Amino acid sequence: MATTDKHQTFSPDFDKAVPSHLWWNGQIVPWESATVHLSSTFWSGVTAIFEGIMSYWNEDDGELYIWQLDAHLRRLLRSQKLMRQASPYSVAELTEAVCELARTLEVRGDSYIFPYCYPQGGGNFESSTGPGPQPVDISITVRPNPSHLGKGWVRTACVSSYTRISDNVMPPRVKNIANYRNSNLAMAEAKFDGYDTALILNAAGKVAEGPGACLMLLRDGVLVTPSGTESILESISRSAAIELARRELGLEVVERPVDRTELYIADEIFMVGTAAEILTIGSVDHYTIGDGAMGPVTRELEQLFHDVVRGKRSEYAHWSTPAGIRAVARG
Ligand SMILES: *Cc1c(COP(=O)(O)O)cnc(C)c1O
Repeated sequence: MATTDKHQTFSPDFDKAVPSHLWWNGQIVPWESATVHLSSTFWSGVTAIFEGIMSYWNEDDGELYIWQLDAHLRRLLRSQKLMRQASPYSVAELTEAVCELARTLEVRGDSYIFPYCYPQGGGNFESSTGPGPQPVDISITVRPNPSHLGKGWVRTACVSSYTRISDNVMPPRVKNIANYRNSNLAMAEAKFDGYDTALILNAAGKVAEGPGACLMLLRDGVLVTPSGTESILESISRSAAIELARRELGLEVVERPVDRTELYIADEIFMVGTAAEILTIGSVDHYTIGDGAMGPVTRELEQLFHDVVRGKRSEYAHWSTPAGIRAVARG
């Protein structure tokens, strides 16, 4: 065991700067052999799309649970369609690819799974505007990424001076790599100005989302979140949080346009997303939110989320795909 944390029992082979293998165009290949020519990188990101998927280690079960794998892979195919990419692999084939890679690496700790679909051979401006679905190359990597659920992290935020991209500019609902130039500008500005993160308004001046996560705020006991047509990414964690808040916490959840100043007077604010998980926002533009720490509703939801993603709540087993590590260990 490389580390001792209950959720971080990576095998020594996997807990390195780079994993030994990745999946590339239908095969598991050694990391070093997955190379492309420099010239193929010039335009490759313009139409490239990806998924970010968390997988959670459950020490008691000796199993890795991949959170919402099916929903993520279905979104991957939707992103491909929108970016006019061909989809050479089905959801079932990609599911097996992810699980097989996790088993090959004997992943025994929380990890980030990154499927990436880019124009075949790198592409160019010409080919990316050609008729019909464009041929693609696909890679899948898995890297260690310890969950921060339960660590009580609190982040400061500002409202960004940048406007969120919109559906008629660069559709923010899918994970298109080029979209992250917008997130990146907002995040860099926030950090230069001494904040941890940015909250970005849409073209209508309403709250959209953070650079890589959606947003929820509590106002007088009601959970409020910008709806799917407010220039947000179609977040899977956001949908899960809405369902858990309604069903398990009995909360009213409203999806609607959100004004900037509603942020300043909210009782609680948190970000929700695969990488952010549940992340408390303690202040916005120096307005303290609640008492500046994780609020009671955020805490309850975070605890619930923690149990669900680690496969400890059988009624939500359909949200988790076991990678089959337990079977590998048994031999
Ligand atoms: C990935 C992402 C999210 C969160 O989506 P999930 O499906 O919950 O991971 C939110 N906003 C942006 C911009 C993202 O890239």
